[in-house]
Amino acid sequence: MKIDADLFGGAIRVLDASDPTDITLELRADNASEFMQWFHFRVTGADGSDLTFNIVNAGDATYPGGWDDYRAAASYDGARWFRVDTELDEGTLRIRHAPEHPTCHYAYFAAYSWDRHLELVDGAKARPGVHVEVLGQSVEKRPIHRIRLGEPARGKRQVWIIARQHPGETMGQWFMEGVLSRLLDEDDPTARALLEGAVVHLVPLMNPDGAAHGNQRTNAAGVNLNREWLSPSAEKSPEVLAVRAAMMKSGVDLFLDVHGDEDTPYIFAAGCEGNPGYTPRIDALEDLFMRTLMELDEDFQRRYGYDLDEPGQADLSIAANYAGQRFDCLALTLEMPFKDDADNPDPEAGWSPERAAGFGSHVIGSILACLPALR
Ligand SMILES: [Zn+2]
Repeated sequence: MKIDADLFGGAIRVLDASDPTDITLELRADNASEFMQWFHFRVTGADGSDLTFNIVNAGDATYPGGWDDYRAAASYDGARWFRVDTELDEGTLRIRHAPEHPTCHYAYFAAYSWDRHLELVDGAKARPGVHVEVLGQSVEKRPIHRIRLGEPARGKRQVWIIARQHPGETMGQWFMEGVLSRLLDEDDPTARALLEGAVVHLVPLMNPDGAAHGNQRTNAAGVNLNREWLSPSAEKSPEVLAVRAAMMKSGVDLFLDVHGDEDTPYIFAAGCEGNPGYTPRIDALEDLFMRTLMELDEDFQRRYGYDLDEPGQADLSIAANYAGQRFDCLALTLEMPFKDDADNPDPEAGWSPERAAGFGSHVIGSILACLPALR
């Protein structure tokens, strides 16, 4: 049996794998920063017997609260993910599983491969009315893809949705699959109505370098992209520089930035209430978006979320705050859990790719509901 992390988004250090019932592993930090949480490794040559993985430094992770009521994700094929027995014991994260196939992946959350990313982009590109463009390159020269849907026309609203500024938050890209598949559905009246009135710009993977390295939060230069929006640089945050420039070119009427939260077992949104330019109009739009989303999606809720910013105190280097201020538009950060939705727990899969995609598809209805009031 072999354990390795030699794959896209792989991250683990193998200390001792000589005894399958007592394998010792270590988390490793992002390639150029201190953040440490993500893991993704592969077991090959398993014979069906019980395996016990001990991640001995899990207590030193950036978000140790992330391990409370947490279960690791596992998959035989990289497409269908399930959860496995996991416990935190004095700083060691212990994962127990008897894989039913010789090869099994284990990850902090359902991993998202580069091949799947390319399939997402190329699959969209092949469809009529869809335009795919490389907006720029990452620090390590990977492409930043933008998928644009809806024929550009005068007066149309400009909707931007971005995901995975934080590369470990793969649920953001699974969410994008739900958004995209609904928008591509010729028979979906909500999607058709939205694309009649809006051009939708999707950036499904903001941070391909971080995704490749198996980073939790930063890009290859060790930068947290979601603190770069006021003054991105070609050296440290070309990913933001490229996307921000394209947003300025098109204009923005609605902006969504999709994330995952390590600690909170709920689905929620954060608004721009702390922006200096926040107005009753934006307040009403946030309320309309969230009220509609609660009707459309059984997981989305407004009881739990981040503390509200004081008036005028928002950090404008954060993408949604920046966009809301710069474009005087509805701008939200959407958060999904790494763990599960405590309101609707799923003992088999926890919060899963399928549920993230479902959430993404429901967001289309909320965007349509807001469309007439966006300008
Ligand atoms: Zn995030």
